[in-house]
Amino acid sequence: MFNRNTGLNVLLDEIQIPASLHSRAPRQVSVALTNRCDLRCSHCYAPKSRNQLRFDVVTQWLAELDLHGALGVGFGGGEPTLYPEFVRLCQHVARETGLSVSFTTHGHHIDDVLAEGLRGSVNFIRVSMDGVGATYESIRRRSFPTLLASMERIKSISRFGVNVVINESTLPDLDDVAIVAADAGACELLLLPQIPVRHVPGIPLATLQDLRRWVDSYRGPLKLSISEANADDFPTCDPLGEELGLRAYAHIDAMGVLKASSYAAAGVQLGEGSVLQAIDQLTRDVAENDS
Ligand code: SF4
Repeated sequence: MFNRNTGLNVLLDEIQIPASLHSRAPRQVSVALTNRCDLRCSHCYAPKSRNQLRFDVVTQWLAELDLHGALGVGFGGGEPTLYPEFVRLCQHVARETGLSVSFTTHGHHIDDVLAEGLRGSVNFIRVSMDGVGATYESIRRRSFPTLLASMERIKSISRFGVNVVINESTLPDLDDVAIVAADAGACELLLLPQIPVRHVPGIPLATLQDLRRWVDSYRGPLKLSISEANADDFPTCDPLGEELGLRAYAHIDAMGVLKASSYAAAGVQLGEGSVLQAIDQLTRDVAENDS
């Protein structure tokens, strides 16, 4: 059972469901609507191209995923609020499917008009904030007070969380990030240890160990989450231990390629075809590569 408004999941595991009746879709799918973004963060993995997905194709994929048991879609990019039909898309998905709608944003385009359009059609928003004050401004090249003002509007749309890319420069700000996020009304802090991209190295081991100590000592009100890529030594809890890999999550990039994650190099080109068939194909490809 899943309630998209509250995010509550209830696992009923007293009954053994035959494998033939299991949902075929991943629980969660992220969709990079566009590669466009007006920021230039050095840690960004999104290709700097103008690719974006067609509205009718995205809605067709999401209808199929909804029909086959997916629980939620997370829109990203690039910057999803630059997608020309973003409000119409969120409204359509909220109205026509049972999917939970979330999106990840740098937050700087959320004005009153956009907030009004999204209210009632979005269930969760993830706001990127990798530090406070000068740290934030050195990474994002945008005003930190403007971000805080934007968070007020974000809070009026839906529940929200804060995403933090963790590296040597941002870890020292993490106490302040957690305090500012909680004061702004966030309910979750998603820790994203830096992944190597282009000329930027991954998080050093020592910083990852410091992050682990920070997690152990955190006593604040925010729910902590961490990206799967670096979660191994962290005290995570996964209630659905048998739903791993593509049964749990898949990503569609702005060129329409289905992947196991947004960082994966290989995938299956979707075109206008069935997303479920592409998931089956990718599952076979991943299994072949692993064997
Ligand atoms: S705001 Fe996000 S999409 Fe844009 S450059 Fe930064 S990390 Fe990339």
